[in-house]
Amino acid sequence: MSDKYIVSARKYRPATFRSVVGQQNLTSTLKGAIASGRLAHAYLFCGPRGVGKTSCARIFARTINCLSPTPEGEACGQCESCRAIDRGNSFNLMELDAASNNSVDDIRAVTEQVNIPPQVGRYRVFIIDEVHMLSSQAFNAFLKTLEEPPSYVIFILATTEKHKVIPTILSRCQIYDFKRITINDMVDHLAYVASEEGIEADRRALGVIARKADGAMRDALSIFDQVATSSGGKLTYEAAVENLNVLDYDYFFRLIDTFARGGAPEALLLYKEIRDRGFDSLFFVNSLAQHVRDLMVAADARTLPLLEMPDDVGERLVAQARTLPLQWYYAAMRLLNECDLNYRTSSNKQLLVELTLIRLCQLLSPAQPPFDAPDRPVALRNPSEPPRATASSAAATPVSAPKDSAPAPSAAPIATQPQPAPAASARVAPAPASAPVAASQTAPAPQPRPASVRPRPLHSFQMNAGADTTVSSLERKKEAFTDAQFIAAWNEYIASVPDQKILVSAMRNASPTRRDNLEFDVLVDHPAQQQAFELAMPKLLRFLRERLRNDFLTVKAMINPEKEVVRQLSPQDFLRKAVTENAALGEFLKEIEIELC
Ligand SMILES: [Zn+2]
Repeated sequence: MSDKYIVSARKYRPATFRSVVGQQNLTSTLKGAIASGRLAHAYLFCGPRGVGKTSCARIFARTINCLSPTPEGEACGQCESCRAIDRGNSFNLMELDAASNNSVDDIRAVTEQVNIPPQVGRYRVFIIDEVHMLSSQAFNAFLKTLEEPPSYVIFILATTEKHKVIPTILSRCQIYDFKRITINDMVDHLAYVASEEGIEADRRALGVIARKADGAMRDALSIFDQVATSSGGKLTYEAAVENLNVLDYDYFFRLIDTFARGGAPEALLLYKEIRDRGFDSLFFVNSLAQHVRDLMVAADARTLPLLEMPDDVGERLVAQARTLPLQWYYAAMRLLNECDLNYRTSSNKQLLVELTLIRLCQLLSPAQPPFDAPDRPVALRNPSEPPRATASSAAATPVSAPKDSAPAPSAAPIATQPQPAPAASARVAPAPASAPVAASQTAPAPQPRPASVRPRPLHSFQMNAGADTTVSSLERKKEAFTDAQFIAAWNEYIASVPDQKILVSAMRNASPTRRDNLEFDVLVDHPAQQQAFELAMPKLLRFLRERLRNDFLTVKAMINPEKEVVRQLSPQDFLRKAVTENAALGEFLKEIEIELC
């Protein structure tokens, strides 16, 4: 390294308002104030560390003293005043770091200086950094000067902790709040620095650095130097991940895919790989929780602004977020939070994390009942309950039906038609034999099924009206619709997703049953169909609600009760059962030295 090496945080410290990263609103306000000559005599710059408070204060001092400012209102950088400030020997700029100089004597040294007018330029600027650190005596000694300084004096106080600054100071200052610098602003700036330094840098690598710096540009530049030093002119994503000991995003994307597939062994293997690379399990759990949180905010356009990510990772998150229902993220975050809470007290931390991973896999592939919802009622299968009707059989399950007209058989499973039928024609056309509900315009009094024989939803979450809060109750549509209209909309949806073969097949065979006025049950045979429904549910519900002009309509996908597993299992029993059903999992657990006690 040459003698001339200057750390990037210093070398690329902004010298003009224009080069300040991520504070555009604030810098243009300051520039405007300077241009109009309306300067306050005291400013307070607040905000997290490393976001440019001191830099802006220096730029401000430089600009108001510049002898020939540019037409854009920036300091020229050439005149006597600019050069003195750049050299650090201008009498017009005094800096005091109150973190280490917080006594009355320190502040007195400043206030004595105040009486000397500027020799060159028009103003004398006093920057007091970390002003909240001043002792209370120092504060008091400072107050009078702050109240009535000479006209050529401007104080700029900076603090990371505005709430610790006493009100008498706050009320005498014009306050500017600096924002955290966004990841993308930071990545852009790092890319600029890299190109200036002749370093070829992968934007994803810069994203890792920006995330690590947590909103502080100065930290980002220091980390950049650290990684760039060992990169030999080429800064790759892998090098950044390796160097900074951060967990590769890719692990989390792969884990989520694994959860969506219900692949517990793969999830456990990934976890082992992460441990083998030396990462702490709790760090892993929290990073995974963060990823799930990021997916959750990426899943909804309204929360998307909460996603602080480099663009490329953000796009990947948005794409992955679509593969799982929103409810999955809530359930997953709860599981990960429980794991975090129990981690310190757990006597077998590895097992705790592994069980959490297995549970996460099961949220979507409920071959066994997830054991994370002990409060859910256990449904007892009633042997007398008829198996569910198929599309070709009109076997009826008594349910409630709409109260319109025409005597008819009581409600029956609504059979779907292989071909889509437009809503209007479905209403008047004679119902096919397989769709008896078209005739069920009226029903006797509602006959809810006894609770004991209701099919139990397999999931610990359901898609229902309660989950959809996009529409306020004032704007919600609630028009009546007939079963025939429902089926028409159902078939219309089937026709609109010809590529989703599992879903199409599940929807054709689902026999929607109107349970309550606005609640439809659909039965599926196996987890793949269940999953297909869950994935499609938000879109399907939106479609049906829109078509039928009723935002209270809900659909619940349930497993055929004939196939239900009703026993609640303890974690150990659950794992034992999983091992008996899947020999490979047993082998695998042995391999990673998990013992079933
Ligand atoms: Zn100048």
